Amino acid sequence: AAKRAGRSTYADFDAALNLEERTRRDLELDLRTAIAEGQFTLVYQPQVCLKTGKWTGKETLVRWEHPVRGRIMPIEFIGIAEETGLIIPLGEWIIRQAIHEAARWEEPHTIAINLSPIQMRNPNLVNVLTNAIANAQIEPERVEIEITENALMHDSEANVELLHRLRKTGVRIALDDFGTGYSSLNYLRAFPFDKIKIDRCFVSELLDRSDCQAIVRNVIMLARALGMETTAEGVETREQYEWLKLHGCSEAQGYYISRPMEAADAAEASGTSSEWQAGEVIADNVHRL
Ligand code: C2E
Ligand code: MG
Ligand code: MG
Ligand code: MG
Repeated sequence: AAKRAGRSTYADFDAALNLEERTRRDLELDLRTAIAEGQFTLVYQPQVCLKTGKWTGKETLVRWEHPVRGRIMPIEFIGIAEETGLIIPLGEWIIRQAIHEAARWEEPHTIAINLSPIQMRNPNLVNVLTNAIANAQIEPERVEIEITENALMHDSEANVELLHRLRKTGVRIALDDFGTGYSSLNYLRAFPFDKIKIDRCFVSELLDRSDCQAIVRNVIMLARALGMETTAEGVETREQYEWLKLHGCSEAQGYYISRPMEAADAAEASGTSSEWQAGEVIADNVHRL
């Protein structure tokens, strides 16, 4: 009908949208403002060395402080930011801000930063990163870039080349959400990652499923044979933590160790064992970070 009229109005179009699409479009419009007005904050989730029990790094996780809706989690807006290209300015801000904040931390923990595959097409990426590192006067070795398998799926040659250029700046490269993409093993051949992050889906059922145990045990062995470290994601219980430690996983990250921390807390957190090893975090009892 809209076509027959030949001049369908915006209102017609609007009426046809379902609620979900409308919410999404609202968020998209808000997202443009949010980037211009700087409505984002970064929280940081600790990563613990399983050998020493000490925190060695923290992963940067972005939050949108929406003036009306309150805090919005990345699952609700990273996809929109990617589709609209807004992930480029947002991602640049995240890189600069995370490195700026990490340079002021009391402990020289590694700062892990997630990179969207879309950001890998930004010709300015290496510049943004090296400038941020130079301005903050942080050792590039403290910066770790997390990419997912999807980032290597398309345009893989260009992206592998980019990873080499990134690595040359001194930063480390981690493969995030390992085991959830297609032909994961192929990516381990394509680039010598510093670290493999074993996806939470394998960790969450670790103690109940022998297949998960077999997979995780063998990913740890494979990574070691390739000279890569391993970080288990989504560690929520003492049992998972102990199992991973026993089986030689390098690091763990998850609610059992710590929820993501607000920037001010992250800056002061040293992660000596007495601070956090007391027991399990009651997941629902904690403010939503
Ligand atoms: P990710 O990179 O795999 O990050 C880990 C996610 O798991 C985080 O969710 C973290 O809060 C959550 N998590 C950590 N420990 C546990 C646990 O023990 N149990 C459970 N159930 N969850 C845990 P978050 O912050 O909501 O981020 C989700 C995803 O959004 C991230 O997955 C990442 O892919 C993306 N993301 C977050 N921040 C950024 C960013 O700054 N840039 C980009 N491009 N993507 C980001
Ligand atoms: Mg990550
Ligand atoms: Mg991950
Ligand atoms: Mg994951």
